[in-house]
Amino acid sequence: IALNDTTLPEIAGAAVPAYHRGDIRTGIVHFGVGGFHRAHQAMYLDRLLALDPDAAAWGICGVGLRPADAAMRDALAPQDGLYTLTLKHPDGTVETSVIGSIVHYLYAPDDPEAVIETLASPHVRIVSLTVTEGGYNFSASTGEFDAENPDVAADLAPGAVPRTVFGYVAEALRRRRDRQLPAFTVMSCDNIEGNGHVARRTFLAFARLADPELAQWMDAEVAFPNSMVDRITPATPPDLRAEVAQRSGVDDRWPVVAEPFTQWVLEDSFASGRPALERVGVQVVDDVAPYELMKLRLLNAGHQALGHFARLLGYEYVHDAAVDPDIRELLRRYMQEEGRPTLREVPGIDLDEYIDTLLDRFSNPAIADTVARLCQDASDRIPKWLVPVIAARLDAGAQAPLAAAVVAAWTRCSEGRSDDGAPLDISDRLAGGLAERAVRSRTEPLAFVENTELFGDLADRPGFTEPYVAALDAIREHGTRAALRDLVAR
Ligand code: NAD
Repeated sequence: IALNDTTLPEIAGAAVPAYHRGDIRTGIVHFGVGGFHRAHQAMYLDRLLALDPDAAAWGICGVGLRPADAAMRDALAPQDGLYTLTLKHPDGTVETSVIGSIVHYLYAPDDPEAVIETLASPHVRIVSLTVTEGGYNFSASTGEFDAENPDVAADLAPGAVPRTVFGYVAEALRRRRDRQLPAFTVMSCDNIEGNGHVARRTFLAFARLADPELAQWMDAEVAFPNSMVDRITPATPPDLRAEVAQRSGVDDRWPVVAEPFTQWVLEDSFASGRPALERVGVQVVDDVAPYELMKLRLLNAGHQALGHFARLLGYEYVHDAAVDPDIRELLRRYMQEEGRPTLREVPGIDLDEYIDTLLDRFSNPAIADTVARLCQDASDRIPKWLVPVIAARLDAGAQAPLAAAVVAAWTRCSEGRSDDGAPLDISDRLAGGLAERAVRSRTEPLAFVENTELFGDLADRPGFTEPYVAALDAIREHGTRAALRDLVAR
């Protein structure tokens, strides 16, 4: 069955929207309708629409800015914005539902004016974003807004037809101010620490360059809530369309697949109201920071704890490594004994359950995440996620021998060979320097960790260096398997 409003009543093999889509008005404009938005925010709104008649004011209009988004227009337009979301459980169970919360889709280059006027509509109260980290246009080294970006520079020219999200949002807010309409909220749902703060900084930086008076108005009137979002959503695999059609009878031009776990912690800071998202499982809170820390130090640092050992042992897939008993035990104990004690209180979360759920999530074969992907750019990730845990443990007079051993496994990986001698592809902007230090650490044991940009003063702290050197020696002398067994036996 083709998927669109008229065929919905014929669909029997998948759940369909339990509300009348004709009643839904656009209240949210979303930039960057990719897999994640469709598996996450749009799914929450779909649930809310089914539950709460007042939510009808919060339908979503998707906007695509980039040439690649023409394909999303071509998929969603004939389907009236409908698509399927398939959730795959670790035990092999699969559920498919049709999501109906995206009621319009605009490919901006087709009609930029239509996008600006939608944004300026009095009904629109939230502009949400999943435009990737790159979409915020700040320099990785200085953290400053990059005004030299050619698209941004073009948007800054007077009277320009916008190309970037900054150009669209600023022009729409200028019209709102001039028409004496309230500002909207800019709600980032990207995976960036302090995403609301980052959005505020970058949107205001653009506005200051474009129109300082407007920037002042935005600073006072626009809210930029922080959020923590979580649901692993891989890019749509090529065979998913046929699989969904076979199982549910629905032919969806661009289906989405994701894990069943989902989390959205959202700061309650909105300029002109918000949907009652707490009714559908969103944690609406005053401060997102403790939740973010939990995710960084358990999920993200946990990926590192798994990844480098798994690579040395020759694993390709995360789900295979996550059920290796030695790796799983190291991971569980790292999270319980070292990551967890460094967290602040996380209201409403049972951390034992969170950790167990992470172990299950990492073991989900449907996600098919690769160990190589986790280990990519470790020189950005270990300093952000794992080093702060080690430092916090040492500051508290405790130790973090398992986290230190993870750094040892990374050191050994950086030499570019697994235990059985197979070459490892090291994808990292610092790969050359890391390899040199890793090889040198065979004769100068602290050579790798003496890099203060990555490790701060850890090389001077025996609470770190002793377990680190011991683990590195054990990996080199007895092999990764034996070293790992010895670590978890203690
Ligand atoms: P995707 O590739 O499916 O979609 C990305 C969307 O962002 C596309 O519409 C693209 O055109 C748009 N985009 C990219 N760069 C842009 C720019 N400079 N300006 C405007 N739009 C731009 O990716 P996805 O899986 O949907 O992930 C998007 C973001 O969602 C991630 O970068 C991350 O911040 C967040 N996220 C993803 C996941 C996940 O598991 N996929 C989990 C949590 C958070």
